[in-house]
Amino acid sequence: MENLQGKCLCGKTVLTVSQITHDLTVCHCSMCRKQAAGPMFYTERVPDDQIHFNQRQTVGLYPSSKEIERGFCNQCGTFLFFRNTKHQMTAINPELFDEQISVLNFEKEIYYDDKPDYYIFANKTVKRP
Ligand SMILES: [Zn+2]
Ligand SMILES: [Zn+2]
Repeated sequence: MENLQGKCLCGKTVLTVSQITHDLTVCHCSMCRKQAAGPMFYTERVPDDQIHFNQRQTVGLYPSSKEIERGFCNQCGTFLFFRNTKHQMTAINPELFDEQISVLNFEKEIYYDDKPDYYIFANKTVKRP
């Protein structure tokens, strides 16, 4: 997929990514679950310089651990991305991309050992502890 445009719930934060694969990962770690009210879906990580924002004023940043920051729209609260500041790589919330998400491929689950028992995905995925 090339030049995908995504936007938050209120529409004030718009990001464009120049190139991205179709593959998605779900994270079951406690921090992602708390932020997302459940397991968190991510696009494959892309280099920071491939992502462009319409403006930065509405992008809130939360440093959730060393070298990690979580971006959100500070107007509507939509989770935007998960960024590794050391490697300058960013995984994006795939739901920003609206109708394009129908072509995505859910292929990997991480922090699987942290997954609570109350849900389980039927998708055939690679599971990492
Ligand atoms: Zn917003
Ligand atoms: Zn996580």
